[in-house]
Amino acid sequence: MRVVLERPPCAGPRGRDPTKARPMTSVPTSKMWIVSGVDNDSYVLGPHTRDAQSDAERTYFEWRFTDADGGAHPATCPTCGRQTAPNFVSAEFRLARKRFDLSMTYDGYTVGSSRFRDACLEHHGTGLELDAIPTEAGFFFVRATRVLAVERSSPGLRFLYPCPRCHELAGVFGVSHLRLPDADPSAIGWWRTDLAFGQAHEQSPALVVGAPTAAWLRTRKLKGLSLNPVCV
Ligand SMILES: [Zn+2]
Repeated sequence: MRVVLERPPCAGPRGRDPTKARPMTSVPTSKMWIVSGVDNDSYVLGPHTRDAQSDAERTYFEWRFTDADGGAHPATCPTCGRQTAPNFVSAEFRLARKRFDLSMTYDGYTVGSSRFRDACLEHHGTGLELDAIPTEAGFFFVRATRVLAVERSSPGLRFLYPCPRCHELAGVFGVSHLRLPDADPSAIGWWRTDLAFGQAHEQSPALVVGAPTAAWLRTRKLKGLSLNPVCV
């Protein structure tokens, strides 16, 4: 998922934009925070692709992943390109950029370093799942086990490109103004949204933390990690 955040409508009193207040030693306790990493220029689904072959295919995305022989990819929908096996990892996967503690692939995987893992095991790791990457020693796929429902009437939320084969939506956009009515901003640990955002193979849920974990993350100064507020 590539998160592009605009100024949130839940900006603080008198319209102050909390994203402009860095460096911060504390964070407002009335909001949840989306955690994201920088792009690492990598694809977990593999290096083999083909261009879309018709206008109908281009509706969903300009190109598709394939297997090594140019055939159908084993972990994506052949019509829309969405991932159908969420934990698939190509044997050819390599991280193109390794200097970050938290980064994101172009196909929706969040990657943490050993430093990120050690920090989270020490504190505030509740709800976090870290799986060692078989092809990259010292790096981990970062996922959350707890789920928060996104209010479907959140401002700017858009649902596009229904796929007749996998019966899912190949386009879910509008992460900037999410509302998470069941969230507890005072709780410790990690959640993921019940919606996966992005288009086709890019889709992934957003990682979400409450105020205590957001404040703690800021103190750790993890490379590549950013926090952006969302409403509850
Ligand atoms: Zn599909």
